[in-house]
Amino acid sequence: LLAASLSGCSAEREVATPATGESSAQSAEETLVGIAMPTKSLERWNRDGAYLEELLQDAGYETTLQYADNKVDQQITQIQNMINQGANILVIASIEGEALAPVLEEAASNDVTVIAYDRLINGTENVDYYATFDNYKVGQLQGEFVVEALDLENAAGPFNLEPFAGSPDDNNAKFFFSGAWDVLKPYVDEGKLVVPSGKAPASNDEWASIGIQGWGSDSAQAEMENRLNSFYGGGEKVDVVLSPNDSLALGIAQALEGAGYTPGSDWPVLTGQDADNANVLNMLAGKQSMTVWKDTRTLGDRVATMIDEILAGGDVEVNDTETYDNGTKVVPTYLLPPVVVTSDNVEEQLVESGFYSADDLGL
Ligand code: BGC
Repeated sequence: LLAASLSGCSAEREVATPATGESSAQSAEETLVGIAMPTKSLERWNRDGAYLEELLQDAGYETTLQYADNKVDQQITQIQNMINQGANILVIASIEGEALAPVLEEAASNDVTVIAYDRLINGTENVDYYATFDNYKVGQLQGEFVVEALDLENAAGPFNLEPFAGSPDDNNAKFFFSGAWDVLKPYVDEGKLVVPSGKAPASNDEWASIGIQGWGSDSAQAEMENRLNSFYGGGEKVDVVLSPNDSLALGIAQALEGAGYTPGSDWPVLTGQDADNANVLNMLAGKQSMTVWKDTRTLGDRVATMIDEILAGGDVEVNDTETYDNGTKVVPTYLLPPVVVTSDNVEEQLVESGFYSADDLGL
């Protein structure tokens, strides 16, 4: 529907060129959108890139989609090439939020409009819009899930908690952690939750001390194995693991399995995010308790709408103008709502919506 409305109107669209204030008639067909994604190694980015590219192409846009193997320099080169090719709009899911300022300086001098996709780009005024899911809310949903799963309001505890955080160079990671920690820390302070490894940040600001660089499953597994070996020697059991996303949860589940934890018996509460295929299978097998699902199709749709509005030269709709300060400016943002998925509503949320086929999930 959106694609149809985009292509239907594109002929009389104009592109506002903010740097000069001039505008020139430009259709979708004359518009090149560069899409820079961080890596193919994580399932969600493959889905994000493919969906957005198809949506834009169906609407008549020219696109170029690049993945950067989680290497910052490679992403900078790719963005540079997109600018050289004459991209009019850049959609960037950055690897390191801080590193793109120089190349975006060049984008700005070529009148390229920049949309930060999912992750904020920091330290530059040359980022025009940000489209993402409510990152704080993602963490809050994880924290609230833990409170309910352990009935922390009523149960005496104490429960053993091991918290993890995302990649220190990813601007989202601090929002995920803050959302969760604002819910859980009061229970840590009260003694209902204890952290045997001692890896409990004293404040939200210290989240990076437990961050897993690059969001790697292997690194998360190694860290969890370490904690289990070093702090759970005397028959003690971990009751809950706060994992910010699915790639970490996958490694953590591996470590739990290796240490002899059994689904349906002593398997701890384990959180996640993204509804990656392997993690949904893990949920169905009792090896992960929940995932925060971000329907990446709605993010693609929103970005396509923004591009449509940018071409039209009018207002670009946003719903948050105060949260995402990138150190240079507060970037006008559109926040989408994340959703909790458990084994109870997998079918309703993920299959009925067409995000997965029943086959993908062995249902
Ligand atoms: C995204 C998450 C993802 C993580 C690792 C974050 O910026 O918001 O959805 O799990 O990066 O790729």
